[in-house]
Amino acid sequence: MIKIAIPGGAGRMGSMLIRAIAAAPDLEFVAATDRPDSPFIGRDAGEVAQIGANGVIIGSDPETLFATADVVIDFTSPAASLHHATLAAAHGCAMVIGTTGLSADEEARLKTTAKNSTIVYCANTSVGVTLLTQLVEDVAAKLTDGWDIEILETHHHHKVDAPSGTALALGKAAAKGRGVELDDVADMVRKGQTGARKPGDIGFAVLRGGDVAGEHSVIFYGESERVEISHRATDRAIFARGAVRAARFAVAVANGFYDMTDVLKG
Ligand code: NAD
Repeated sequence: MIKIAIPGGAGRMGSMLIRAIAAAPDLEFVAATDRPDSPFIGRDAGEVAQIGANGVIIGSDPETLFATADVVIDFTSPAASLHHATLAAAHGCAMVIGTTGLSADEEARLKTTAKNSTIVYCANTSVGVTLLTQLVEDVAAKLTDGWDIEILETHHHHKVDAPSGTALALGKAAAKGRGVELDDVADMVRKGQTGARKPGDIGFAVLRGGDVAGEHSVIFYGESERVEISHRATDRAIFARGAVRAARFAVAVANGFYDMTDVLKG
């Protein structure tokens, strides 16, 4: 049995993960936390996830996660995930991190932490988006001169970061296909007298509304033609299933920093 702990156990993804673990015969759910000021502290995590009491009480001390688990699956906030990664390294515990909105500096700190532990870090844990990302890199490498790349994403109205981590990952894949750095070509904001679109730019557009689980399109505009590659998530359960798959991978590999592409290969 693989022992799994969940910080952010009262969150949208936390609840999804608790349900996914309960449905898997090879996984044991051992601990959960949430923010110290969360109204869910002291509540049974199974009840909060609406699958019935399971005896795991949501606490606020992150040490409890790492003292008991083989792997911690973290979909919380950038600051919390970074702190948890430090604890994971100290305890020799593996982590799957799905939190988005980390800065380049925070991502670099995560990578350093993974020298002493295993971290699978991925802005989108769905199998479909992982394949989409590979496809985008290939297409961007082939559709070069005269082709403009635009990325459109839609998410529910609770989402706090923009563009989504997935949109940025798709942008990085497209930039890689073109042999450039995303930071040098990303066009994130258009308002007022913007001037004409610069050749080679990768544009981003963001929609927020309702309960949309996540929609991403990468659009390649050519002369008199257009290629669109899209992914639509209709249920957050796909992210939980992917994260659980990543957790099984994380306990089986050597220390290091991995992503979902590694998980699918493994
Ligand atoms: P949410 O706000 O519903 O849940 C986050 C939970 O983390 C909350 O319960 C919050 O109280 C808790 N939390 C915050 N700080 C904490 C701390 N220090 N210790 C313990 N718990 C803490 O948000 P969500 O929709 O579940 O998304 C969470 C994150 O996962 C976001 O960054 C989101 O973008 C990302 N996400 C990633 C994927 C993916 O496939 N990788 C999919 C969906 C969401």
